[in-house]
Amino acid sequence: MKRILVTGGAGFIGSHLCERLLTDGHDIICLDNFFTGSKQNILHLMDDHRFELVRHDIIQPVLLEVDQIYHLACPASPVHYQYNPVKTIKTNVMGTINMLGLAKRVRARILLASTSEVYGDPHVHPQPESYWGNVNPIGKRSCYDEGKRVAETLMMDYHRQNKVDIRIVRIFNTYGPRMARNDGRVVSNFILQALKSKDITVFGEGNQTRSFCFVSDLIEGLIAMMNQDQLIGPLNLGNPDEFTILELARKVIEMTSSSSRIVHQPLPEDDPTQRQPDITLAKKNLKWSPGVKLDQGLRETISYFKESHTS
Ligand code: NAD
Ligand code: UDP
Repeated sequence: MKRILVTGGAGFIGSHLCERLLTDGHDIICLDNFFTGSKQNILHLMDDHRFELVRHDIIQPVLLEVDQIYHLACPASPVHYQYNPVKTIKTNVMGTINMLGLAKRVRARILLASTSEVYGDPHVHPQPESYWGNVNPIGKRSCYDEGKRVAETLMMDYHRQNKVDIRIVRIFNTYGPRMARNDGRVVSNFILQALKSKDITVFGEGNQTRSFCFVSDLIEGLIAMMNQDQLIGPLNLGNPDEFTILELARKVIEMTSSSSRIVHQPLPEDDPTQRQPDITLAKKNLKWSPGVKLDQGLRETISYFKESHTS
C-alpha cells in the first residue's frame, strides 16, 4: 500500500487513475485546481476514507508526504490549453518544477504525463521515442507542445542532477467516459454532435490521422510504467490502430444511428497531419499493449454521453 499523489486527478484521465489506484488499495491524494477537471468526475470516490481531495494550483509549491506522484495536471485539449497559453506554459514549467521539487524532497518516484505532441507534425511515421520531432516553437499549439518538451527536459535534468526517480510517458490521443463535453476534442465533439443531430465538424478534408486509445488501456500502461525498475522513458503509450478523422466521423454517425451531416471547417494552425505510436518499447518492457478496439471504446463513450451529457 502506497501514498500516491495524482496531480490533475479530477480530470478525465486523472479520475480514472485515482479510481483504479484506490481499487488497488492505495491512499490517494487528488490535487486539482478544477480548471478543466470537475468534482463530478471524482464524486463517487469522496466517501472512501483513503481518498483525499486538495484544491491547489501547481504553479504554487506544495508539501505533501507521498511515495509516488503521477503528474497529470495540465489542460490537454487544444481549446483549453490555448484559452490562456501563458498559464499553460506556467503549469508545465513552474508546475513541473514544483512537483519535481516535491519528489526530490520526499524521495518520491514521479511520472510525467507527456504527450505525442512533442513529436509535433511528425516526419517519421509511426513515431518511435527516439524521434526528436518537428515542432513549431512560436505557433498556437507551442504553449502546450513546447511546455511539455520543457517538462520532459526538467524531468531528465532533475534525474541527472538530483537523482530524482523519474518516469516519462508520452500519451497518444486517449478517449473515454468523463472527457469534458466542452473540451473540443474530436471524439467528444463528434459524439455530442451526432447525439444532438447537429452537423459533424470535420476540420480540413479529414484526411489527417490519429490513433485512439481507450482510457482503461492507458491506465494499465501508466501503472505498469510507474511500477517497473528497468526504464525511465520517455515511453510511448497509445493504440497504434490509425484512422482518418473522416473515418472517425462516419463511424460515430453509424454507431449512433444519427441523422447528422458531415460539414468541413478550416483546419486549425499546425494541426498534425498524421500520428501513430510505435509501441515496441512498451510491449517489450512493460508487456503492455492496448486491448480495446475503437468500436468497443466508442460504444462505451457514446453510452456515457447518452446517459449524462446530452442536455
Ligand atoms: P484534463 O483537462 O481532463 O485533465 C487535466 C487536469 O489538470 C484537470 O483536472 C485540470 O483541472 C487540472 N489542472 C490543469 N492545470 C492545473 C494547475 N495549474 N494546477 C492544478 N491542476 C491543474 O485532461 P486529460 O485528458 O485528463 O489529460 C491529463 C494529462 O494527460 C495532461 O497532462 C495531458 O497533457 C496528458 N495527455 C492527455 C492526452 C489525451 O489524449 N487525453 C494525450 C496526451 C497527453
Ligand atoms: N477535429 C475535427 N473536428 C472537431 C475537433 C477536432 O476535425 O470538431 C480534428 C482536429 O483538427 C485534429 C483531430 O481532429 O486533426 C484531433 O483533434 P483533437 O483536438 O481531438 O486532438 P489533437 O490530436 O489535435 O491534439
